[in-house]
Amino acid sequence: MNANQPIHVRGVLLPSEQTRDLWVSEGVFHDGPIAGAETVSVNGWILPGLVDAHCHVGIRYGGGHEDSDGARRQAVLEAKTGVLLARDAGAPVPTRFLDNERGMPRIIRAGRHIAAPKRYIRDLGIDLDNEADLPAEVRRQARAGDGWVKIVADWIDRDAGDLTPLWSDGVLKEAITAAHDEGARVTAHVFGEDALPGLLEAGIDCIEHGTGLTADTIDCMARNQVALVPTLINIENFPGIAENATRFPRYAQHMRDLHARGDATVRSAIEAGVPVYTGTDAGGMIKHGRVVDEIVSLLRVGMTPADALGAGSWEAREWLGVPQRYAPGDRADFTVYSEDPRRNLDTLRAPARVVCDGRVIA
Ligand SMILES: [Zn+2]
Repeated sequence: MNANQPIHVRGVLLPSEQTRDLWVSEGVFHDGPIAGAETVSVNGWILPGLVDAHCHVGIRYGGGHEDSDGARRQAVLEAKTGVLLARDAGAPVPTRFLDNERGMPRIIRAGRHIAAPKRYIRDLGIDLDNEADLPAEVRRQARAGDGWVKIVADWIDRDAGDLTPLWSDGVLKEAITAAHDEGARVTAHVFGEDALPGLLEAGIDCIEHGTGLTADTIDCMARNQVALVPTLINIENFPGIAENATRFPRYAQHMRDLHARGDATVRSAIEAGVPVYTGTDAGGMIKHGRVVDEIVSLLRVGMTPADALGAGSWEAREWLGVPQRYAPGDRADFTVYSEDPRRNLDTLRAPARVVCDGRVIA
């Protein structure tokens, strides 16, 4: 189909269950009908697309950086699986050029990871020699990104032989205040227990992975409605990480323990009322295009299918500040399924239509 062909879709919007006709031309919704529009679907179930709230466009699977073509391929793959909105949780290469290309998913960037020397995956982030520079770097990344900043809050400390926090509580407070001052939200990579109280005390907005959450830190997140993006499909990599850490037995055991209680931890967070959203951590250790696996995994930790779907779609869009209203002039992003995905989440694996930026791409 010609990319500029106006289209018409009739179906049931989720979660409202309202039956609607959608008319799309030149990338945006219109009040219909549009003469000459091609009807591409009737009787389907319509979502505002899926959301991968933790992925990395530009990090190659297996490690290293993608070039522009590689980053574009990753973005297209995400879109074809129905991910029309992604939060990029730290990219080592510029991907802003994708915003000017038609048919790409919408990407909300967190700039680059902020870490310290030898305290994160090599060559991915900005390594600060002096933690006193954190607030200034946070401001820089807030200005470079799209409303989010990503801090690496704990990692293996090879001298200690275990996970330890990268930053002291005082500097975190200053850094997170600086981000908020710039109008950005802050999220942090956290595997263990010890970095969490300081981050929460400092007013962090979101936690990635969160395997080290305890009853106290879960309670604090629920009270302050701090979001959790657990990346369940990436936590499955912890035993493999432990396997490769033979020189650091304490760290290896810690990672095994965090993995062993990972599901119970996320389940407790959900039960306590912590807002949980889907993220795959694609790039590096996870292939792009796996958000449906993450949505399905949320059933294992106690979500209903409808809640898991919301966490990977409309609820995540609201949280990221881009709710889909299907209003005239709004960017036309939606996915269509032949059955109600709330009845069977595996339906998400085969969208009948993916309309991204007003184009039928699948
Ligand atoms: Zn990540």
